[in-house]
Amino acid sequence: MKLHEHQSKEIFARYGIPTPKGKVAYDAESAREIAKEIGKPVVVKAQVLVGGRGKAGGVKLAKTPDETEQHAENILGMTIKGLPVRKVLIDPAVPNKAEIYLGIVVDRAQGAPVMMASSAGGMEIEEVARVSPEKIKRETIDPVLGLQAYQARALGYRIGLDKKLVPEFAKIAMALARVFADTDASLVEINPLFITAEDSLVAADGKLVLDDSALDRHHDLEMLRDPDEEQDAEREARRAGLSFVKLDGNIGCMVNGAGLAMATMDVIKFYGGEPANFLDIGGGAKADKVAAALRLILADTNVKAVLLNIFGGITRGDEVARGIVEALNQVKTDVPMVARIVGTNAEEGRKILANANMQTASSLEEGARMAVEIAKGSN
Ligand code: GDP
Ligand code: MN
Repeated sequence: MKLHEHQSKEIFARYGIPTPKGKVAYDAESAREIAKEIGKPVVVKAQVLVGGRGKAGGVKLAKTPDETEQHAENILGMTIKGLPVRKVLIDPAVPNKAEIYLGIVVDRAQGAPVMMASSAGGMEIEEVARVSPEKIKRETIDPVLGLQAYQARALGYRIGLDKKLVPEFAKIAMALARVFADTDASLVEINPLFITAEDSLVAADGKLVLDDSALDRHHDLEMLRDPDEEQDAEREARRAGLSFVKLDGNIGCMVNGAGLAMATMDVIKFYGGEPANFLDIGGGAKADKVAAALRLILADTNVKAVLLNIFGGITRGDEVARGIVEALNQVKTDVPMVARIVGTNAEEGRKILANANMQTASSLEEGARMAVEIAKGSN
């Protein structure tokens, strides 16, 4: 789950990271009022959950309340990378000399978070990472001990900060590492961290991506969720309690179990097909849940065949089969379906599905091959 810039910066501020004290406006007139209150030049910033707002024209400097209103009006009418701008942040503008990048991500290869910093921060950081990766300095964070003060200071020196600024930089880096750990984040970022005209540091932008699997421990943060963040299909899946990821292929997959779902996708690919989604319907076989899953799969018009791969365990194969048949009564479709059921009461399950005119396969290989053939034939 992503947080908006203003939400991220509010959290940063609680940890002692200096941020401009701005306010959010939902219409141009309030933007103007906020600018009047601030009483000096401001930046008007689109609050949408994508990067690259600056380049898209979603970040504008305004010298007067009039100009603020004008920019807010324009920005509130924009759609950035498909997301409508519904609110703007009005921050006091900060005169700056330089832009630093500071962020933490989970490095799966190392199995640890890594802090990254660069003196070439700002809007071109992706380009910097591509053409001169040596300008990005890294420190691995020990997952148990956390970022150490010496590491934070070392990073400051390694990116060539003036000695005077290193203690302040280290304080911010330590605070950011605490934000990352405390919120169970998968990414936290300040880009840019300004070196101001007065030689202090200010977080001009903020980004925080939380680990969805940890949100149960952070109900306060979960409340900040912006429904615009998710695509319709993903939102529906979350509400139905399904893990669903849309992909670009044409074979829909309905599987009980995440590992089995991955294996199913692999086998489809092995036989030359392309999965249209990852879907784990989880345990249980309630018809409503299966129907929700089926609706999600079929909402994708690329889908030419559906492969159901069911492992009957505690939830028996015949129960799942009955759920599927009931779901098919709820969701009418002509898209061909192939089912493979193994495990507890698999035979009964297969019979139920065969009676419902569904093709059944006796192995995953066979099922995948059948689905791939159907999908290819329909092109
Ligand atoms: P992003 O493009 O979505 O990452 O949005 P940012 O918040 O990073 O803003 C983009 C750029 O706008 C920054 O890299 C800065 O150059 C500039 N900017 C943002 N806030 C201020 C500010 O308060 N003062 C000045 N001078 N520039 C700013
Ligand atoms: Mn930025």
